[in-house]
Amino acid sequence: MNGYRLGEFHAFEGGSRKYLYLVPSGAIFELTDLAADILDRLRSGERSQEELLAGLGPDAAEALDDLHQARAVSNGNGFPEPAEKTPLPFPLSTVVLNVTNQCNLSCKYCYEFGEDRVANPEGKAKFMPEETAREAVDYLLAHSPGRRAVHLTFFGGETLMNFPVVRSTIAYAREKAHAAGKYVDFSLTTNATLLTPEVIEYLAENQVGVTISIDGPRELNDQLRVFRNGRGSYDVIAPRIKELLARHRSRPIGARVTLTSQVVDVLKIYRHLQQDLGFHEVGFAPVTTSPVRLYSIGGGGLDIVLRQFQVLAQEYLEYALRGEHHGFSNVTDTLAELHAGISKAHPCGASLGLVGVGPSGDIAPCHRFVDSDAHKLGHISTGVDPGKQAEFLERGHISRKLECHTCWARPVCSGGCYHESYVRYGDTGHANLHYCEWIRGWTDTCLRIYGEIAARNPKFLDHFDERRAAA
Ligand code: SF4
Ligand code: SF4
Repeated sequence: MNGYRLGEFHAFEGGSRKYLYLVPSGAIFELTDLAADILDRLRSGERSQEELLAGLGPDAAEALDDLHQARAVSNGNGFPEPAEKTPLPFPLSTVVLNVTNQCNLSCKYCYEFGEDRVANPEGKAKFMPEETAREAVDYLLAHSPGRRAVHLTFFGGETLMNFPVVRSTIAYAREKAHAAGKYVDFSLTTNATLLTPEVIEYLAENQVGVTISIDGPRELNDQLRVFRNGRGSYDVIAPRIKELLARHRSRPIGARVTLTSQVVDVLKIYRHLQQDLGFHEVGFAPVTTSPVRLYSIGGGGLDIVLRQFQVLAQEYLEYALRGEHHGFSNVTDTLAELHAGISKAHPCGASLGLVGVGPSGDIAPCHRFVDSDAHKLGHISTGVDPGKQAEFLERGHISRKLECHTCWARPVCSGGCYHESYVRYGDTGHANLHYCEWIRGWTDTCLRIYGEIAARNPKFLDHFDERRAAA
């Protein structure tokens, strides 16, 4: 029999306990002192079973077996990567309808209209007709076998510029889903400029999930989120958001912040959106951009962001230990993935469980590729071209990203967003190597938080099982 050697894992501590984040399975393993001693012996290289267990007492063989079962150690037979090819066709869970490619703002960093856009909407429909939206609903219901709950998300441009189609599509989808024995959940993203009392009433009545794009208090939001004449949007949207939050209580309303070189004050933004405006959840994402743009965040800016994320994450932990909700959704999202023990072969559901549909009816891997001829997967009237879908997925598969093969964060990252890869490297299959330090730093922070919650208030983690069951 071969000797034993270390498997692939990332060790971390939380709540005075020791854990391993097991790569590539994505599972979290709590270490006993005995198991930790065995791993220590292997750090200097391969050892035989006898050498490994000598003097460690009668329970050591069982501890070694546990480590072996968990694949934290290997006896030379190697570990199969779980990330095999995903069988197609894959059942849909979400369709994102870009009901318009028009917008009433001119945010300078916008991936749809800015300098890094991938879309070529010229000559195509600007507003999705009702008929196209209905075809998309039919497509979702027909291509989601085995799923009782499916999701319809409305997106833009500015989504509410085509509110009549949002409203009629929701009514249609409800009726059709009911007939098909399914439940359909609705959500939309908006810049909040068109949240009239009538729209707010409708969204509340119909329990539509709402995400608002906003970058913080006036002086930060208005740096880049401006109308065409350069006027900032904050004074228009703040009163509308307050009205929405006062009226729409049936679903948590989230804010989505785009971080740029000018807008990196995460703590200030979070406090304003959560405490002054009253958002239930606030999520942050660095802008997607080519590195040459002035608003692109460089390595130094990302370090500032990570440090502020860590301060907020610590606050999240304190809330979680008291069993209370904290609205920093970046932690919630990462903890949910860690808790589910996922190991991704692809970075996200684009072109698998999720597709985007543009105003013209063209199908794209996700909402960010809508209206891009180079990424078109098919049309809603004829469906996805299986050859194009397979090519897109093969290109983005973790097995193709050589740089990721030795990275412990790959179960959660898998190379990162395809759209970001395309904008940065001109290839959806390229790993987002400019973010590796950030991804590993953030994942490590969330692992420690997870470990501490698991040690000191494990009941809090039940919340993630409920969230998964409802998804
Ligand atoms: S992109 Fe970087 S952080 Fe992500 S899996 Fe690959 S090497 Fe790891
Ligand atoms: S490709 Fe990027 S933007 Fe599109 S669904 Fe995936 S992570 Fe999201």
